[in-house]
Amino acid sequence: MSGDSESLNLKLASLQVHADDYLAGTSDVAPPINVTTTFRYPDNPEELQTECELLGALDSGELTHEDIPHIYSRYTQPVSSRAETVLSKILGANAVLYSSGLSAFHAAMIYFNPKNIFIGNGYHGCHGILHILQRNHGLKIHPLDADPSLLQKGDVVHLESPVNPTGLAFDIEHYAKIAHDRGAYLLIDATFAPPPLQDPFLWGADLVMHSATKYFGGHSDLLAGVLATKDPKVALALKKDRNYIGTITASLESWLLLRSLRTYSYRIKIQAESANKIVKYFHDHASEFPVLKKIHHASIQALTESSDKDTSFIAKQLPLGGGPVFSIEVADEKIAKALPSKTTLFHHATSLGGVESLIEWRAMSDPTVVRTLLRVSIGVEDTDDLIADLSRAFKHFS
Ligand SMILES: *Cc1c(COP(=O)(O)O)cnc(C)c1O
Repeated sequence: MSGDSESLNLKLASLQVHADDYLAGTSDVAPPINVTTTFRYPDNPEELQTECELLGALDSGELTHEDIPHIYSRYTQPVSSRAETVLSKILGANAVLYSSGLSAFHAAMIYFNPKNIFIGNGYHGCHGILHILQRNHGLKIHPLDADPSLLQKGDVVHLESPVNPTGLAFDIEHYAKIAHDRGAYLLIDATFAPPPLQDPFLWGADLVMHSATKYFGGHSDLLAGVLATKDPKVALALKKDRNYIGTITASLESWLLLRSLRTYSYRIKIQAESANKIVKYFHDHASEFPVLKKIHHASIQALTESSDKDTSFIAKQLPLGGGPVFSIEVADEKIAKALPSKTTLFHHATSLGGVESLIEWRAMSDPTVVRTLLRVSIGVEDTDDLIADLSRAFKHFS
C-alpha cells in the first residue's frame, strides 16, 4: 500500500477500510489496540509546546486538531482518532466521537445551550437528558410542532428521523426552515437511517447525531455516539468541550468500532434492503395474518398513516427506502407480550442495529408507547428465513 488515498476520490466501501491509513504510524495491517492513557512529550526541549500554546495554535487555525500530538487519552488517543477519521468520511462531515449516543446528545446540548427546545416523541433517553437540564437550568421543553415564535436565536429544534420506535420519517427540510427562520439550530438524530440511506445535511441539518452503538458498531458489543458538523470550527469547539466533559470513547470501544466500520456499508445496505422487503411482504399479505393490526415504516408511510400530512418528501429524503427498523401493532397486549417468545431467529431484546435481528415488546423499556407495539430490528440473516420466522410467530396467534 502506497500513495495518498485522499487524492483518489474513493467511494464509501473503500473509505471505510482506508480513510485512516495515513494515521497508522506502524506497519500493522490491523490497527493495534492502544491502551495508554498518557504519551511521552518530545525529547527535544526545543520542540516542547505547552497545552496553552497548542490550543492557541488551534484557535488561530495554525494547527488542526490532527496536528496536535497525543497527550492524554481524555483528549485524544490513536484508536479513537482513527475511528473519528473513518466516521468523518462516512458522514461527509467532521465527526466527533463520544462514549455513547446519549453523551453525544448531551454534548450537543452543552454546546448549543438553548433556552428553548422543540422535540417530538422519539428516543426516551434524549428526553431524560432534557429533563435534567430543565431541573437544573430551567430549560423549556416544547412539542415539536409548537408555535415557532417561542424559538429564540440560538435555541434548538431536535428532530429524530426516522423516529424511534416506529421507523416513520419526518420532513427535515420543513423543520430546518422553522428553526432557521428564528435563528435557531436544527439537530437531527439520524440513528435509524445512517448513510447512505439519508443525508440530513442536504435538507438543512446544522448538526447530526448518531448512536454509533447501533449501525456503526453493528455487533451489539460497544457503546458509542457521534456528532457530525460541516463546520470544522464547530467540531473543534465540540472537541474542546469534550476534553473537559470527559466523554471520549475509550480505547477498546474505539477499536471495536473501527473494526466494525470496515464492513459498515455492506451491513447497512443488506439490513435496510431486507427490512424493506419484510415490511412489503407483511403489508401485502396482511390478510393472512389477522393478529397484525398495523405495520409502521417509512416505506409504507404514505399508505398506512393518517394522511393529513404531505409524504412526498420521503422518496427524496430516503431514496433507498426506509431504515432497518419497523414496528408492528398486534391485537392485544397479551399477544404483544407473548409474541417474542414464539420467534427462533429474533432475540427478544432492546436496542437495534446489530447483525442479529431483534424484536422487543416495547413496553419493556419505553413506558410512553402503546402496549400492543413490538419494535423489530432487522439484522443480516437471510430475508426469507426472517419472513418465515415472523410468519410462524404471527400464525401462532391466529
Ligand atoms: C440508542 C439510541 C440513542 C442512544 O444511544 P446510546 O448509544 O444507547 O446512548 C439515541 N437515539 C436513538 C434514536 C437511539 O436508537
